[in-house]
Amino acid sequence: MTDRASQASASYYIRTFGCQMNMHDSEHLAGVLELSGYTGAADIVQADIVIYNTCMVRQSAEDKAWGQIEALSSLNGSALLAVCGCMAERYGVDIMSRCPGVDLVFGLHSIARLAEMLEKSSRARLCDLGNINRASIDELPSKRANPSAAWVPVSHGCDRFCSYCVVPLVRGRERSRPPGEVTEEVQRLASAGVFEITLLGQNVNSYGRGLDGTSFAGLLESVACVPGIRRVKFETSHPGDLSDSILVAMSGRAEVCEYLHLPVQSGSNDVLSAMGRGYDRDYYLQRVERARELVPGVVISTDIMVGFPGETDGDFQGTMDLVRAVGFDAAFMFMYSRREGTAAASIGNEVPQVVKAERLKALSRLQARFTRKSLVNLVGSTVELLVEGVARSGEYVVGRTRGHQVVLLPSFEAPLYSLVEAYVPGAGSHAARGRVKKVIREPPD
Ligand code: SAH
Ligand code: SF4
Repeated sequence: MTDRASQASASYYIRTFGCQMNMHDSEHLAGVLELSGYTGAADIVQADIVIYNTCMVRQSAEDKAWGQIEALSSLNGSALLAVCGCMAERYGVDIMSRCPGVDLVFGLHSIARLAEMLEKSSRARLCDLGNINRASIDELPSKRANPSAAWVPVSHGCDRFCSYCVVPLVRGRERSRPPGEVTEEVQRLASAGVFEITLLGQNVNSYGRGLDGTSFAGLLESVACVPGIRRVKFETSHPGDLSDSILVAMSGRAEVCEYLHLPVQSGSNDVLSAMGRGYDRDYYLQRVERARELVPGVVISTDIMVGFPGETDGDFQGTMDLVRAVGFDAAFMFMYSRREGTAAASIGNEVPQVVKAERLKALSRLQARFTRKSLVNLVGSTVELLVEGVARSGEYVVGRTRGHQVVLLPSFEAPLYSLVEAYVPGAGSHAARGRVKKVIREPPD
């Protein structure tokens, strides 16, 4: 590490792994750093400070982060190397024992003191985790790439304790933000020109538990009413807490997008019970039916896991049947990954890796048909898209429908971060294709 890293004019590079909550936390990291005078580096090789914001929901995410942290010295041996996020919360100082190149390990709840920690760690290695259930980072400055859209956390942590999941162990117990604080943040964002808000929480539907007279349905309405806000999305919904009043609030306000991310995890009652999900297959199907009844045109995506300990072929067929019965518009599919410290880690009866891989392949093949069908259904229609970023090829930009589906647009037609109306002439397996009819809203300056 060079002396440069301890200077406030130093450059930083943040590598983020995992979910939207992690990406939003990284926006706070960047905001705090820029307020202290640090500037973003063009790439990881040139940075004076490299921060890895890590994820450990599955072993694969963790392995990727370990690999990149260990490889940094060969890419950029002079940078100050810091690690935060879920792995920092879980492993703390052990990260330093395993990786001699790491100068700083810090918890998200210490980030208000980030500049001070960087300065100290440029002299001696430092581990500072703060208290996960206490300080809030929501009021800290943040730096967003997209000026038209913003994530707004409504709660932190999770009280569901699904038997496989490490989130409650690394993110702590569920804490809802006061509704006034959330709406004030949305008002501030709207005054800065933001017109799409995504409310974030591990389980947004249980928002307000522990706060008097408030619910997620009520919050949704207050956020949708903020002048200037045109699209409101939210995730993640837990089926067990998806009340009819939330669905009614979704359909009651035009600003709330008809998009529901509703993880099912499994279609087998035995597996759902061993996972501690708190609902069975019929209940899930009934929630989907109700959502389709109350929110016309709702787009439904899900998360599914295969190979939970003890999952039989029959259980897996139950999942396949459920996927056929629902016809999800999109799905994120994973192989079960054993997480130390969770209840499922001590069940034993692990499903062999080859079987997990076969099941994932079969499930992905089945779901691909439904994803494609959902995209093909857009063909011939006119959709409203927020232009989120540049597609991999560079010739196209990525637009998102109100239902969160991807429509690729020729880049010369659609200004980045604008809201456009587009006609959909065709669709592929992962995205539809669109032609811009008109720009509805330019991005803020
Ligand atoms: N709070 C959200 C997201 C949790 S993590 C929810 O309840 O849905 C995102 C997804 O990762 C989960 O929905 C689950 O499908 C998957 N996941 C979580 N723990 C896992 C594990 N141990 N192995 C494999 N997948 C896991
Ligand atoms: Fe994990 Fe379950 Fe909480 Fe989602 S609801 S974060 S899967 S414990």
